[in-house]
Amino acid sequence: MSFSADVVTLFPELFPGPLGASVIGRGLSEGLWSLRTTQIRDFATDRHRTVDDTPAGGGAGMVLRADILARAIDAVSPPDDPRPRLLMSPRGTPLEQKRVRALAAGPGAVIVCGRFEGVDQRVIEARGLEEVSIGDYVLAGGEVAAMVLLEAVVRLIPGVLGASASEIEESFEDGLLEYPHYTRPALFEDREIPSVLVSGDHGRIARWRRAEAEALTRARRPDLLIDRSSPKAG
Ligand code: SAH
Repeated sequence: MSFSADVVTLFPELFPGPLGASVIGRGLSEGLWSLRTTQIRDFATDRHRTVDDTPAGGGAGMVLRADILARAIDAVSPPDDPRPRLLMSPRGTPLEQKRVRALAAGPGAVIVCGRFEGVDQRVIEARGLEEVSIGDYVLAGGEVAAMVLLEAVVRLIPGVLGASASEIEESFEDGLLEYPHYTRPALFEDREIPSVLVSGDHGRIARWRRAEAEALTRARRPDLLIDRSSPKAG
């Protein structure tokens, strides 16, 4: 069983885009995950294939219609679909690695991409859409946000990354930012590789990396350390 992604969008031609490259794209062509896009406009009923209308109560911009969006969602996701239905939205729960890991362990996701001012609130409620944000800034549409989410999820699907501890030992997986990396050449513009890393002493190397990760996290993201020590932290 592979991870099945359905993206509901006004711009299906943007996909797979970056998701077709490198290990994520290889995983796609090898069937480790699947991607289907659905054009919301195909579910409009008028001659001009209109999908949006002016906001009730007035104000700027346009709103995606509930009835048309609901038909598009229903075409790909039956009521008993086990996959979560997500709506990319700046109002949503901020996406974190914990949620990414949970999604990667599941059967897939239905991802709705907003445009304009957003979508009619009633379709969010009627189709149980879970709003997910990729950060505290506003994009022009949900497509790039959906790609961010999918790229983070798909790289955790078994077989997509070469293998190994590279998934576990990186930023956020243990609640810390990652330690700094070095590789050849040994000398770069008068800068050496920290001597501990070329000592061959694996115990010392592990302790040094841990200390660097903790110092970096304390300096840049003290909020992550607070999250770690709180009892509800996963
Ligand atoms: N008027 C809305 C913003 C709409 S932006 C508001 O102020 O909340 C248009 C679409 O882009 C949204 O419907 C959403 O799908 C997507 N989008 C914008 N910013 C996003 C973010 N930070 N995370 C996820 N999706 C986002």
